[in-house]
Amino acid sequence: MSSKEFGLFIDGKWQPAKGGKTAESINPATEEPWATVAVADRDDVDKAVAAAKRSYDAGVWRNKPKQERAEILNKICNAIFERQDELAAAEVQDGGGTIRKATAADIPGGAQTFMQFSQALLAQTEEEEFEEQVPVPSRNIVRREPIGVCAGIIPWNFPFVMASWKIAPALAAGNSVIIKPASNTPVTALLLAEICSQAGVPDGVVNVISGPGGMVGEALATHPDVGKVAFTGSTEVGRRIMQLASGTIKKVTLELGGKSPNIILDDADLDSAAMGALFGTFFHQGQICESGTRVLVPEPLYDGFVERMVEGSKRISLGDTLDPATTMGPLVSKAQLDTVSGYVDIGRKEGADCVIGGSCSASMDRGYYFEPTIFRNVDNKMRIAQEEIFGPVVSVIPYNGDAAAVGIANDSMYGLGGAVWSKDTEHALRIARRIQTGTVWINDYHLINVRFPFGGYKQSGVGRELGPWGLDAYQEIKHIHVGQSAPASDKIYMAMLFN
Ligand code: NAP
Ligand code: MG
Repeated sequence: MSSKEFGLFIDGKWQPAKGGKTAESINPATEEPWATVAVADRDDVDKAVAAAKRSYDAGVWRNKPKQERAEILNKICNAIFERQDELAAAEVQDGGGTIRKATAADIPGGAQTFMQFSQALLAQTEEEEFEEQVPVPSRNIVRREPIGVCAGIIPWNFPFVMASWKIAPALAAGNSVIIKPASNTPVTALLLAEICSQAGVPDGVVNVISGPGGMVGEALATHPDVGKVAFTGSTEVGRRIMQLASGTIKKVTLELGGKSPNIILDDADLDSAAMGALFGTFFHQGQICESGTRVLVPEPLYDGFVERMVEGSKRISLGDTLDPATTMGPLVSKAQLDTVSGYVDIGRKEGADCVIGGSCSASMDRGYYFEPTIFRNVDNKMRIAQEEIFGPVVSVIPYNGDAAAVGIANDSMYGLGGAVWSKDTEHALRIARRIQTGTVWINDYHLINVRFPFGGYKQSGVGRELGPWGLDAYQEIKHIHVGQSAPASDKIYMAMLFN
């Protein structure tokens, strides 16, 4: 039995699941349970949706002046920083990231999301007015309103950041929200609900319930009182969410998988590009949706570049996730480990050469550790170049000429991220503009900025998160036409019906 216990967070309170069910969360570095979490079923979904709807209908949050909502979002940001050590340790034990990453990226990244949406809310014009003369004089008001009850279904790779990306814009816009975290990593989303409540968000406005996607997730995606579902996870489940949400025409935003191209141009700084190619693939064990898992290298530079990557990969240290010296942790679960090693077998069978890694780490005696793995001689048609592996496996693909690089980059069902490396910014920009993805970095990787939009082209998603674009995604837009009180004879359009 683990020492930490968590309930569901519904209506401003910790509560057990109605059915009394709990599950243990496994620490992927030790393979041991570290926390026990209540497991929701359909009754708990109904309870959470009812609490959210009650708070929404009562207007306890949406009717607060936006300055007040913005101030509470800033309080949440500060409260996250106050609890950052506890949150970082929980994130690491729940999901297997490193304490380095949790401290530098996850917890401050979540906090900044609340501050950014506070600013985006204050910068937004709630109502705009337009005059119109045709066919009759009118005043026209276009205003933004919340959607209602929003559901967020989130994955295990960035549990705290993903919870923040769903809760912060929903709150900024005045919605009530229910989050379903991934079953592997429920803890920090639950703690965030408590933080929101303590910072002054009224009861019922933020609810977090852990439980199986196939039941709790599906119940949220079909619930008649849920107006929007925001999902991050696999393309396969995203497709299912879209189908389920269609029954009640919910607003849907989806942030799905990727197989992002990382294009090394012939005029790149090769040292920096090789490190960028590794950072783009191996950061967080490759379990990042926009990882640059297809590295495209000009043929004349190919052998030398692969060599630089192999050498650079030796600077990555696998180890105890709570040790600040560790730069790479385990995969999230045994199931994910099996998926990744299955793909390495597929790559070998397809004829690609595994030049380093390719197996579980021999240096670790427990935990779901997998070595950084580099494949050379990869053809873009191979499964390891087309399918999302979500582990530390990179395919290095040779190309001949810029046009071929763009062709290979866009030859994917996905379109989430990618990068271009060059010392000539204009050259890089010409390529970046031709890549069919939602984010392109030039000479950097993985630098998601909460002020700018993030999301996918093609089968990588629908809609955008973050920045003012991300706030739009949690709002309805209403047009109010204000006509003159005048005799019907002055309203010339009525002549279409009346003699
Ligand atoms: P997933 O199955 O898509 O899970 C994401 C979330 O959806 C989890 O909260 C999950 O709950 C829930 N879910 C699962 N089935 C559902 C359903 N039928 N209806 C509603 N919700 C459902 O992802 P995964 O299994 O954790 O990982 C599988 C693959 O997804 C990875 O290998 C990777 O390729 C991709 N992935 C992508 C991202 C990304 O950021 N784009 C993140 C994670 C994973 P449970 O945890 O209870 O199943
Ligand atoms: Mg876990």
